[in-house]
Amino acid sequence: MKVCILGNGLTSFTLAKALINQGIEVDICSNVKLKNYSKFQTLGITKSNIDFFNKNILNIEKIGWKIHDIEIFSENLLNEKILNFNNRNEHLFSVIRNFDLYNSLYLNLKKNKLIHFKKDSNYKDLIQKYNLVFNCENKNIISKKFFSKRIDKKYESYAHVTTILHKKISANNTASQIFTKDGPIAFLPISPSETSIVYSRKGGKHINFIELIKKYNSKYKILKINDVFSFELFSSNLRNYHHQNIIAFGDSLHRLHPLAGQGFNMIVRDIEVVVDLIKFKKEHGLDLDNSICLNFEKKTRSKNYLFSFGVDAIYEFFNFESKIKNKSFAKTIKYFGKNKFLNKIFTKFADKGIIY
Ligand SMILES: Cc1cc2nc3c(=O)[nH]c(=O)nc-3n(C[C@H](O)[C@H](O)[C@H](O)COP(=O)(O)OP(=O)(O)OC[C@H]3O[C@@H](n4cnc5c(N)ncnc54)[C@H](O)[C@@H]3O)c2cc1C
Repeated sequence: MKVCILGNGLTSFTLAKALINQGIEVDICSNVKLKNYSKFQTLGITKSNIDFFNKNILNIEKIGWKIHDIEIFSENLLNEKILNFNNRNEHLFSVIRNFDLYNSLYLNLKKNKLIHFKKDSNYKDLIQKYNLVFNCENKNIISKKFFSKRIDKKYESYAHVTTILHKKISANNTASQIFTKDGPIAFLPISPSETSIVYSRKGGKHINFIELIKKYNSKYKILKINDVFSFELFSSNLRNYHHQNIIAFGDSLHRLHPLAGQGFNMIVRDIEVVVDLIKFKKEHGLDLDNSICLNFEKKTRSKNYLFSFGVDAIYEFFNFESKIKNKSFAKTIKYFGKNKFLNKIFTKFADKGIIY
């Protein structure tokens, strides 16, 4: 049984590691050089995904920083706190540098005999050569040929990311997000003395990020602001999940606005589905075949659409509210957020995605 993964980003390496853990031989094919992820960009990975990662992919406990509380503020309500999530017994999510996650996966994969890294520009015979192909690239010939129908949305915004070094805080375990009139700015602690910042801001690439960080930071005594990286933001959902034995995967399948920090989390949930389908085949002595593609689509597509729509709806609500300068939405959220039952539902939605 041989599987091919097209691409060499975070998704490809995470999926590859999950597959070799199931005893499957994997070729990782890409024409692109290894990625150079920034040390100043981070990912928030939810508690249940970290648990899945540690158990089924790679133990990443040591490279993550645990977050116990999340506080949401609204500039529209004069920076009043509108939501607060915490779980007394457990952390809610962990913050990990993209760089650390990628390198940990790469170093582990490099040593494994089931993995072969290939610089393959010939994507012609993939369908015949492999039981399954996962396409994690969105600009290769396979994407152009078989996965071009997508629902795209441009946010006319850029995400600006960096980390700040600040005076040590003994329990730097509370993440916060302020919905400013120009978009959400998140402060995600990564150690007692370093916090990562993501500002998804309407408008162009060039902003005075340093001044804006100073404006919205009320907590940290900043010693240094690291290099800033900016990404134009859009969301995208493919209409078809597979073509014969090729499955579209990762950001090339669904890409979200980063306000909820859910893009990679959705991918990990997709990997969980793939692993379950493969385990089932193995337990029944069956080969990996196209039915995996069909079942993957069946189990994930509607949930992923709903989830993407939910994240976009949050963005649009706050956007609309700031446009019309109305405070009623933030006030309503604050009112519902105080309800313990609803608060629990929000927390579960962020942790586990849509369950039904
Ligand atoms: C600023 C930012 C913060 C993020 N924070 C989180 C998080 O906290 N938790 C989480 O689960 N996922 C988050 N994501 C999504 C996550 O980075 C991707 O899902 C993941 O990198 C996909 O891996 P890949 O191998 O498919 O693609 P990669 O090879 O990693 O390439 C994807 C590239 O596209 C960028 N990108 C991702 N989403 C968008 C978007 N909507 N618009 C424009 N560019 C985008 C990524 O930063 C990356 O550089 C974030 C994305 C961005 C842009």
